[in-house]
Formats: sequence, structure tokens, C-alpha cells
Amino acid sequence: MNIQTPLKKVAYVPSDREKTFLDSVESAKYDRQIITGLQKFATGKVPEDMQGFYSAQELQALDALKGTDQDVEARMPVKITRHYFDLAKNSKPIQVLVKASPSETFDMDGSADPGKQMDYSPVEGLIHKYELGLIYVVGTCSAHCRFCYREELIARKEVERPDGTVAAKGMAQIADIVDYVKEHNRIVAENGGRHPQTGRERLREILMSGGDPMVLANKNIAAWFAALSEVGIESIRLGTKELAFYPDRFDATFFDMLDKFHVTYPQTKLRFMVHFNHPDEFLRKDEAGRFMDEPGGGLQWVESTKRAIAQFGQRQWLTVDNQAPIIKGINNDPDALRIMQRELKRNKVENHYFFCGRDIIGHKAFNVPIEEAWRILNESQKGLSGVETHARLSITHYKGKTEVAAVSNEPAPGIPGGENGVVVLKLLRGAADAPDRGKITILGRNPEAIWFSDYNDRVIYDEAGLFDGVKP
Ligand code: SF4
Repeated sequence: MNIQTPLKKVAYVPSDREKTFLDSVESAKYDRQIITGLQKFATGKVPEDMQGFYSAQELQALDALKGTDQDVEARMPVKITRHYFDLAKNSKPIQVLVKASPSETFDMDGSADPGKQMDYSPVEGLIHKYELGLIYVVGTCSAHCRFCYREELIARKEVERPDGTVAAKGMAQIADIVDYVKEHNRIVAENGGRHPQTGRERLREILMSGGDPMVLANKNIAAWFAALSEVGIESIRLGTKELAFYPDRFDATFFDMLDKFHVTYPQTKLRFMVHFNHPDEFLRKDEAGRFMDEPGGGLQWVESTKRAIAQFGQRQWLTVDNQAPIIKGINNDPDALRIMQRELKRNKVENHYFFCGRDIIGHKAFNVPIEEAWRILNESQKGLSGVETHARLSITHYKGKTEVAAVSNEPAPGIPGGENGVVVLKLLRGAADAPDRGKITILGRNPEAIWFSDYNDRVIYDEAGLFDGVKP
């Protein structure tokens, strides 16, 4: 945990440069046509063409769970935009992603915080790991993925803190985050480049997350960008699924704000971390449900998504990367992932990570076993070119981000414990510090495993220390 003297609360005062930039930003209004709650489907209070989205039997089964321990909407409220509904009409994977199902709460085993994120939260709304800080800036999205592992934030549940107290997660506030960054970086600078208590380097990158920051107005996003830039953050990432839920959000006023930000703060780089799970979220289909060839190469995109992606592509000073979990019934499909990786790269979106699910409460209906997820990704990358296969399969250990680097099909002769083959994990980044990067852990295979603990009795070699039980 990061230990720093508590700071006195002072209201944030923007600089003149910030004020000038913020005064120039226009916030537009959007009509996402969002439907919130199952009740609207049950009582027919949705537009006519949406009325059959849930069958009578589905609504009945969900209603029967209401108020019980298995209440599906208490776990994750139902929310969908018109744009996403139109895509879902012709896509089973998208329906699984966005439609509530009784199976979600059949097995509620799991941990509230398997990655022990709260251990790295020195300030409300901030997770500080190594040189990166993640901030929760908003607690909702335009639509809700049923598999979301931020459901405690979105459904406003209370979580246990490392000090034993229990409270709902709060949102990051500009004044608190700016003060924390300033103080952390001051201490680091005065101590030869490392924090004397935590060993961490300068905080130079912040990921704006939630929820989805793109539900905020341009002015609010701009205020975060400017404040983080003023305090010396070099790269700002913004995690969003809005390109799938409501691509028209990426309109001229938004790109105008980005351009003005770049002119005012050219030293700060923007990295958009987008979230497509399946090509049905951005490709057009014909009446038979097939993707359509684009004359001249590639496949045809949904017009509004294509327009937004093209706008991003014109700005060389920002990057767009896709990352997504591999989820049962949605994208545990090598062919879909192959098409997605190829089309994204062709349109200047880098394939960054695919994630294994977490051993989180209410996630059993969505978890694909770790070794199966590796096989699906590996299979999907057969036939792709080198530049299309940059994505790695990642699983988040509390010690840091870990890659599922390899799973052998054959027994590993001469390796005790490797009779059914082995899994090789590689530590990509430590949560507290960097020196362990590249260290590996070798495990005997367990095809059913969905989390590290399922390998506790199969550790063959643990250079990375993923199974030593020691907290960093
Ligand atoms: S977009 Fe992300 S944060 Fe929002 S519901 Fe989906 S997974 Fe959760």
C-alpha cells in the first residue's frame, strides 16, 4: 500500500491556461435513447420494436428472482442504448452481453475483490500501481455489460477496505488526485527517483475509468485532461466502450475539444483504450447475417462507428487500443476474434489485451477457463499477420499484470507435475514495482481452472512468486 501523509482538502483552482482551454470547450447534448430497468420491458413501456427483446418466459423467470439473493438486477442493473439494441437484434453474442439472464446468479461464489485492488487505493477513487494510476471518474456507462466486474461500482455496492471498514466506492475528485500526484512526485524527486516507502517511481500515466468517462460532458472530460496535464502527467488513458454503445458520442464537438487540448498541452499524449468484445459490435451484416465485403478490401463497418474511428485515425498524437475479456457465450469464438483483430488493426486500432475473467462474485456464468481462453486466442491468431497478433492474454494477479504465455498440449516429460502438460505465466508488470517483470511461473495443467487458486496444488516452478502468498 502506498503510504503518504494525508493532505488537507483544498478546492482545486485551475490555472489561467486551463481556464482559457475550458472556456473554449463546447458540451453537446446527446439522445442515446437509453432503456433502464427490466420493468420497462415487463410493462411494455419500451418502443414497439423493443417489446419482444425479452420473451414472456424470460421476463417471468427474472421476475421470480426479484427480491431474493439471486435478484439479477440487484447484481447489475439493466441498461441498453437504442444503437446497441439495433445491433443486438441480429446478434446472439450481443444479446448475451446485454440481456439479463437468471443464470447470472445461479452461482454466487467468488471474491468481492480478487485482484485486491483496494490494497492499492491511497486516495478515494484512485488505484495506484507502479507508474500508473487508475481513477474512477464516473459510476455508470451508456449500457451495462452483464459480465462487468465493476458491478460493485455500477450497482453501488459496499466493499470492504483493507482497514476493515465497509463503504461504497467513491469517485475520484480533481483536487484530491492533483494533490496526491503532486505530493507523490515531489517525494520521489527528492529521493533520487523512488518513493522511500513504496519504491514506486514518478506517477506519469493516469487511466480515466469508471464506469465510462465518455458519459461525461466534454467540459468534464476536458477538466480532467487539463488538471492532469498541469500536474505533469505525461500520458492520459481513457477507457471506454462508448464506440460500441453509442458511437455518435464521438462527434465534432468532442474532436474539437481533443484538438484544442492538444494545442494547449502538446506534451501530454492521449491513449484511448476502447472495448469491443465481438465484431458484431462494429461490422455490418447482410440479411443472411454475414459480414459484407468492403469494395477494395476488408469488411463493411457500421457507419457511425467507422466515422468515429476514422476521426481518431487522423490524429497522429493519440493512440487507440482495444482490450476485452474473453467471455462465455459472447466471444469464446476463435473465428469472431480473428475477424475482430484483423479489422481493428486495419483501421488503426491496436489489439492490446484480451483478459481472463476474474474469480469475482456472480461471474461464474461468464468465466471461460484460463487454458481454454489461451487456446481460443491462440487459435484466433492462426492465419493473422504478425502486426495483427499483438494482443496477449492477461490475468490480473494482485502482484501485477500477468500474461498467460503458453499452454502445452503434450505432457512435459521429466517435469514432475507436468504429466498433463504445463501452463507458463509471465509477470508483465509488478503492482508495486518493476524489477520482477519477465519472471515466470510454471504450473501443471488444470483445464477447469478459472483463477490462480485453482493451481495451488500444481505449482512446478514459481520464479515470479505468484503463489508465495507474500503481498508486495
Ligand atoms: S462498459 Fe465496462 S464498466 Fe461499463 S458495464 Fe461494460 S464492462 Fe462494465
